[in-house]
Amino acid sequence: MVQNSTIAENIDHVRETIATACARAGRSEDDVRLVAVSKKKPVSDVLAAVAAGVYDFGENRVEEALTKIPQVGQQVERMPTWHMIGHIQSRKARDVVSLFTHVHSLDSLKLAKRLSGLAEQENKTLNVLLEVNISGEAEKYGFEAFDWDKSSQVHDALWQDVRQLMALPALNVIGLMTMAPFVDDAEEARPVFAGLAGLRDALAESLAVSLPHLSMGMTNDYPVAIEEGATMVRVGTAIFGARTV
Ligand SMILES: *Cc1c(COP(=O)(O)O)cnc(C)c1O
Repeated sequence: MVQNSTIAENIDHVRETIATACARAGRSEDDVRLVAVSKKKPVSDVLAAVAAGVYDFGENRVEEALTKIPQVGQQVERMPTWHMIGHIQSRKARDVVSLFTHVHSLDSLKLAKRLSGLAEQENKTLNVLLEVNISGEAEKYGFEAFDWDKSSQVHDALWQDVRQLMALPALNVIGLMTMAPFVDDAEEARPVFAGLAGLRDALAESLAVSLPHLSMGMTNDYPVAIEEGATMVRVGTAIFGARTV
């Protein structure tokens, strides 16, 4: 656990970095939402971040969220917004619908159908971002999007999935998410971020839909992601310190 004052200082620093990156890119800092990734961190750390004015949190494991989110809820005046950012197993989908309002890790049409059906039963609408694999890394989850602008096969499969997704009644598709490959120099991730923005523009135009959000950028590379159009950055380590467990 990190000292509360340190978490507040870290948040200040991250906000300044966001503001600087926005200024460089000629963007308003109001257009970038900081999602504090609290995975593997205790409730007390989340409360410290809430006290410092953070109202968006990201978690990647349902088991952890099942205890953490209600505990936080009991100790705050206003429940923060919870973002699911990790791979979702089918049997955990029901819990995801009850715990989260945003899912960044929607990585298959099958999962989308399941989440929509469950959300409908609960009279909810889930805000979702489609996780796409734009870098072509084999181990990554997400809709296959590597070379979508060169391969008609990849393009057509992706477009077909997105069309079906858009028609699901209880999902509000608000944008795209990606994980950049882990690299030492954040500049190496820039083409992946630019690629996600390009894919978003192409989908929005050809399907005549609005996809306002790009969830991209983590501790190592969020300033670069902001320069390439990120509207949500998912930052853990820079706020809460290294995850040791
Ligand atoms: C853990 C995680 C993050 C945050 O990573 P940091 O490097 O600690 O900022 C962001 N996005 C996803 C999907 C994650 O799993």
